[in-house]
Amino acid sequence: MEVIYNLSDFREYRNSLDSQSKIIGFVPTMGALHAGHLSLVEKAKKSSEIVIISIFVNPTQFNDPADLMNYPKDIKKDIAKLTPYNPDVIFIPGLKDIYPKPDTRQFDFGNLDKIMEGESRPGHFKGVAQVVSRLFDIVRPHSAFFGQKDFQQLAIIKSLVKQLDYKIEIISCPIVREKNGLAMSSRNMLLSEEARNVAGFIYKVLWEAKESYPSLLPEEISKTAVEKFKNHPDLKLIYFEIIDSESLESGKALNKSSKLVACVAVKINDVRLIDNLIFV
Ligand code: AMP
Repeated sequence: MEVIYNLSDFREYRNSLDSQSKIIGFVPTMGALHAGHLSLVEKAKKSSEIVIISIFVNPTQFNDPADLMNYPKDIKKDIAKLTPYNPDVIFIPGLKDIYPKPDTRQFDFGNLDKIMEGESRPGHFKGVAQVVSRLFDIVRPHSAFFGQKDFQQLAIIKSLVKQLDYKIEIISCPIVREKNGLAMSSRNMLLSEEARNVAGFIYKVLWEAKESYPSLLPEEISKTAVEKFKNHPDLKLIYFEIIDSESLESGKALNKSSKLVACVAVKINDVRLIDNLIFV
């Protein structure tokens, strides 16, 4: 396992792989690693000959400067957590490696970035697309592993791969949860134990929503879920949406063949959490 801290060393390493025709799996992260990230690494290990993990807190995807400043960082711990998995490389680039000059690229994701995270975090997905495409260009993997926890992000990345014609297989990985159902997230580190317990409520509501389908209509299920969050003293609801898992359309655009997913964002003690659950 090698830890590479700058672009020129990484390029040298990556070029050395060119003659080896090995399958390269890539796991991009923002660090503050937990079992959710490690499940991606495990999956990458199973299907790749070379595993590369990046750790880079991407400023262009943060619309709230306080959120960026408070984002948990602990590179030492991250490296220690990854060591047992023995990935080939942990790539920890600097800001200038990723953005030698300001990235002014715009992307058109149609409906995909107009709702939910896109609506409540303006510019977020532009930043995600910028960093992911830059990392794809640098790492040049055969496959890249992303968590379903960021459901909308997965749809955006699949669209990005199509638009920019990357020959990279996007592998989606299931959400890893705490015992009480709370989706693991780096931001959970910002919560007290009590708040983490309270936040188990998010999964409970998602689960009840899933259970009430198809006996209730999606709009009825949404209404009930919104009420539950609104009545909770510690959670501030940002959105709750039931959408088509492919098109991310909602409301009248849903039809009987739609595979639905309920997506939610809430704040607890000013920490923003997202989660989702697919209805099968
Ligand atoms: P982040 O470091 O938050 O940018 O996340 C890096 C990758 O880990 C993304 O593809 C996330 O979707 C994924 N991820 C984060 N939390 C989880 C989780 N609880 N379960 C599965 N994947 C996750």
